Amino acid sequence: MTLLAGKVALVTGAASGIGRATAHALTREGATVVIADRDATHGPIVVGMLNDTGGQALFVHADVTRDAVAMVDASVAHFGRLDILVNNAGIFYPADLLDIAFDEWMRAVDVMYLGTFRCSQAAARQMVRQGDGGRIVNISSVNAFLGMAQSSHYNSAKGAIDQLTRCMAVELAPHGILVNSVAPGFVETPMAVVNGVNEHETPEFQEFYVRRRRIPLARPAMPEEIAEAVLFLASPRTTYITGHTLVVDGGLTITF
Ligand code: NAP
Repeated sequence: MTLLAGKVALVTGAASGIGRATAHALTREGATVVIADRDATHGPIVVGMLNDTGGQALFVHADVTRDAVAMVDASVAHFGRLDILVNNAGIFYPADLLDIAFDEWMRAVDVMYLGTFRCSQAAARQMVRQGDGGRIVNISSVNAFLGMAQSSHYNSAKGAIDQLTRCMAVELAPHGILVNSVAPGFVETPMAVVNGVNEHETPEFQEFYVRRRRIPLARPAMPEEIAEAVLFLASPRTTYITGHTLVVDGGLTITF
């Protein structure tokens, strides 16, 4: 309950899915949480739930492609500091390499890769000013190291996030800021619904990934299971892990 007492955390894309579960986990451990999301409908609802359970949370209507400094400033203005950043905001849409327009390809890169850079730079500058370290956790994906059709934009952005994680870990280490990423496999969130179909419920997914155990644990993750890994890397329990990508995929990537 008090692992993160006195800490202020900023979670992007926390109106939904993994970000929302992470906000709950951080709150449970005593952190004050800033929810930064472009979704102005669900963000305040998440904040209401966190505050109703004894937490202290704030919603900032923000887009990671343009509001990185503003969301860090809001954290500091309301709560005086920033100790933890979770770069979680993300989007997925399937698109063929041969057909995708440049702007559509760049949209994934802009939100996930450049968004991670922008928010990390703004947050790290604040953490360095504070002078007592910090934690940055980036949400990558197993897609970062897998080849896959219709995903060149998404997988490239995620691969770049893992590389950025390693470089930031080196540059920020002298300031006591630990930077890691979490790479989930399949997770039961709205992102799993593509063109109105939950891909985890299709006969193909059930046959290949579940019945034949291409995922050894034979199911997608719940967002709360990813959030626990994020919490670990965001907490003072980690003092000697930096630049690492923690795969949380039920064993998906150890099978072939
Ligand atoms: P989700 O439920 O769709 O939540 C993503 C949240 O990010 C949404 O609230 C979304 O708002 C918000 N967002 C999107 N673009 C944004 C922007 N430019 N600025 C601010 N907020 C923005 O998805 P999720 O599954 O929890 O995904 C969270 C992260 O996990 C993503 O980085 C994703 O790539 C990664 N991931 C997910 C899975 C999976 O299977 N679900 C697997 C591996 C990795 P809107 O609803 O308005 O778009």
